[in-house]
Amino acid sequence: MLFKLDLEKYNFKEYKAFDVNLISIDPRVRDMCAQNLCGFYGRNHMCPPSIKEIDEWKKEIFNFNNAIMVTKVYQAESSYDIEAMIEGSKDFQKTLSGLREELSNEYSYSDFLLLGAGACLICEKCSILDDKPCRFPDKAFPSVEACGIDVMSLSKKAGVKYNNGKNTITYFAIIFYN
Ligand code: SF4
Repeated sequence: MLFKLDLEKYNFKEYKAFDVNLISIDPRVRDMCAQNLCGFYGRNHMCPPSIKEIDEWKKEIFNFNNAIMVTKVYQAESSYDIEAMIEGSKDFQKTLSGLREELSNEYSYSDFLLLGAGACLICEKCSILDDKPCRFPDKAFPSVEACGIDVMSLSKKAGVKYNNGKNTITYFAIIFYN
């Protein structure tokens, strides 16, 4: 498959192809989700412990030959600006949803994988809270960290800026494809 999406139009701060073999999958990264600092652990179909086990992600990820890391940067008033984090996260999810839709129009599901940042925010209230299956399994996707990928370390290896300056928030996603 030739990757022919125009990533320019998504206004990413950076998008950079990198070698999939730079990725290491570490269960400790996913285990950090269990600390539930974001409040979504067990409360979102796209978060642990609901998503697939780490070994399954490992298999799936290393089935792809190519990867692109994308980032978007948001301004905050301070490093404790929760409102900016939430707004940034919503905007990033919206951008990735558009990207995912374009990917699924162009390619079959087995030809790509998108991993984003944070919990899935498609529905106002995730159906997991009502003990119901995901409403949009074809649209939802998990985060990079939930699959055991340490973004900080990978961004350094991939040559993508992790920190984009004082009082900024950088969100990361990865597109895998063959
Ligand atoms: S699409 Fe809705 S139900 Fe599915 S994971 Fe996202 S928020 Fe939950």
